[in-house]
Amino acid sequence: MAAPWPRRPRLVAGNWKMHRTSAEGSALAREFVLLRAADPAGGGCAVAVCPPYPALAAVGDALRGSGVYLGAQNMHAEPQGAFTGEVSGPMLASLGCRFVILGHSERRHGMGETDEQVAKKLRAALRDDLTPIVCVGELLAEREGGKTAEVLVRQVAAAYSGLSAEVARTTVVAYEPVWAIGTGKVATTEQARDAHRVIRSTLDQVLGSGSGGQIAILYGGSVNAGNAATLFAEADIDGALVGGASLEPASFWKIAAAAAAAG
Ligand code: PEP
Repeated sequence: MAAPWPRRPRLVAGNWKMHRTSAEGSALAREFVLLRAADPAGGGCAVAVCPPYPALAAVGDALRGSGVYLGAQNMHAEPQGAFTGEVSGPMLASLGCRFVILGHSERRHGMGETDEQVAKKLRAALRDDLTPIVCVGELLAEREGGKTAEVLVRQVAAAYSGLSAEVARTTVVAYEPVWAIGTGKVATTEQARDAHRVIRSTLDQVLGSGSGGQIAILYGGSVNAGNAATLFAEADIDGALVGGASLEPASFWKIAAAAAAAG
């Protein structure tokens, strides 16, 4: 069993989405390992990469012993069964995955994943000894319609209701405004801070007072080497879930170093 994830650690996780074959992913991972060895500053925060399923084994091999964690981008809630095309938590854990991204907006809005499915996957990830990164966030129309808080409360409450505070503490939340993902439009520090506070207060309500302050909340949405330090200066932002910039080793490492420097 993996050691419990510590309280509110700084974490920078790279979501490679549907990019890189097994050989390409392995080469990219080796670049991260070299960067980490050459510039351990970024090692002051936890770092994870989440390649597509077919690259997990090769990337895991390339990362072995480096201290960079391996994660997956999704999983099925059942441990096994007649679910053609799906991958289960025990399969991911057997490949050395520590993390699994759940409820990414590209799955919620592109593939119809529901709050209920995300809640089931969260429990399954915990059962399977994976650290879930639970993504929540509003669409542009929801933000413009003044519904950001309502959406966040609904998504967080659906995922976390019924979990014990002790178990929930081992999970990670990622606030990812959908309008900021892959668009180059990063949320302002104020927008991110306000959203993180809504998420923490919802966790307090669902899990018990003080719980929200114990759970790491990442920001995701067009984070890059140029804007990371400003975001990480906000005390409520515990790290980042990074898409595009996680495919550029030097940029990703600068983001990790900025998170580490923010302490
Ligand atoms: C993501 O895929 O979770 C993401 C935040 O992407 P990007 O950094 O490219 O906006």
